[in-house]
Amino acid sequence: MASVTVPSKVDPALVCAEASRRRSFAVISHPDAGKSTLTEAMALHAHVVDEAGVTHGKASRAASLSDWGELEQERGISISSTALRFGYGDAVFNLLDTPGHADFSEDTYRVLTAVDFAVMLLDAAKGMETQTRKLFDACRRLGLPVVTVVNKWDRPGHGPLELFDAVQEATGRVPVAVNWPVGESGRFDGLLTPGDSAYLRHESVDSGAHLAHEEHREGATDGDLDPGVWQSAVEGASIAAELNGVFDRTAFRAGTQTPVLFAAAAGNLGVHALLEFLLHQAPAPAGRADVDGQVRAVDSGFSGYVFKIQAGMNPAHRDQVAFVRVNSGRFERGMDLRHAQSGRPVLSKYAHHLVGRGRQAATASWPGDVVGIVNATGLGVGDTIHAGPPVIFPGMPRFNPERFRVVRNRDAARHKGFAKGLAQLESEGAIQVLRDEQGSPGGPVLAAVGDLQFEVATDRLHREFGADVALDAPLPYDRSRPIPAHGVQKLSAVPGIRILYRPDGETVALFANRWKLGHARDQFPDLFPNESASG
Ligand code: GDP
Repeated sequence: MASVTVPSKVDPALVCAEASRRRSFAVISHPDAGKSTLTEAMALHAHVVDEAGVTHGKASRAASLSDWGELEQERGISISSTALRFGYGDAVFNLLDTPGHADFSEDTYRVLTAVDFAVMLLDAAKGMETQTRKLFDACRRLGLPVVTVVNKWDRPGHGPLELFDAVQEATGRVPVAVNWPVGESGRFDGLLTPGDSAYLRHESVDSGAHLAHEEHREGATDGDLDPGVWQSAVEGASIAAELNGVFDRTAFRAGTQTPVLFAAAAGNLGVHALLEFLLHQAPAPAGRADVDGQVRAVDSGFSGYVFKIQAGMNPAHRDQVAFVRVNSGRFERGMDLRHAQSGRPVLSKYAHHLVGRGRQAATASWPGDVVGIVNATGLGVGDTIHAGPPVIFPGMPRFNPERFRVVRNRDAARHKGFAKGLAQLESEGAIQVLRDEQGSPGGPVLAAVGDLQFEVATDRLHREFGADVALDAPLPYDRSRPIPAHGVQKLSAVPGIRILYRPDGETVALFANRWKLGHARDQFPDLFPNESASG
């Protein structure tokens, strides 16, 4: 049983070929814009992969999404919500899921560090929403190309040019039309490609249970189409092209352009066109820079990056799974792996290739794929694992928490679970745990970006670790920054500032409000090396 598998030699050309077939991305949006609906629609168009390169067609949406693999059943862990892998054309698509809750959170940001581009959904009637802006901003920080999809075109909403203006104003990216709707929002006859005289006429079948019926027709002579509707679509597309130019792959990849496509995901309209666009134009995994700025090419030895840690939902197991994005090389179960941060070996025997449905039959994963490593104690979010030559990728950037509450253990007999639970939540990055110089014997401070994190943390402490906890009222601070150790003396006596410590010893200053922070920054710029003095 305990045999060690020596990984087979991998041909670099094969790794490059496999990498170039991958499209690894996330669909992101304000809640309710249609993320789940689009995900299902994509799966319906695709073949869910259950073995590397082997795909199976399915009859319906339900079949494509159910039965997500044994890890889930065995351990009660929802991996279906981590990555959906499907084949389309020659390509393998890895669609990484982001949490759907209303708070923009670090979880979403972490998933975005593991993809090569994002598909941003807008609701045609709502346009840019709060979350849409925040997500665009996160993509900018990460240098991610963004494909914009205007969804729900079957319902009345804004005009395309209006939406283009809103996107440009809010994001600075220039929206360029990849396709253009024939029919104003509320009446979606089809899609034209700017400059073409033909268009793709489409019709939803069985309210979206099956692929849409699609047919190429000459726009100007199509008897089923009102000539005025055709004319206005042609005009709209040409105005957009005059104003914003046409799709340019380099500008898209550099993030200065965002290509725009139109869809009604619920009826599977425009989904085929989106998949074709992603297949032909979206970036495949490329080499990633390590902490020294050296690029680890996709065809070098295996390396990967932990972007998410999930604890078992099943208290009987108390498992934890580290989800790893493969950055380079080939991953095989049983290969010798190391955790770059500690130098310790990582057991890969129980790794799961995240594949489509049925048995976890894949024998290898490639750059852009996601692997789940079970019982990966000691791995933290942002850590690197590798085989062969060592490498360390830049860790996960931490968000500065803005909400702080003391958490108390109400039952001394259950202190062990309380302490263990806090350590677990901290290592997953589910919430930050801060303590004062005395170690906060009364209870540490939980520090979060959004309020939902408190709920999740207390619920999990209770459910998974059997702790009986209570949260105090929020502390009167709404900003925080990591500061160097020598800043403690300077800031600790200032009213409205409080100094706390992370488990790794890093010092964090809490500020009562943005003026307190601004003042401290003006007075001691050396404590805030990464920030400008004002704002
Ligand atoms: P999510 O919160 O972004 O995952 O959104 P969902 O996929 O759950 O969709 C939210 C609601 O919008 C649901 O009631 C969907 O049926 C509906 N919806 C999604 N896509 C479309 C569409 O293209 N047209 C219409 N009319 N409704 C849609």
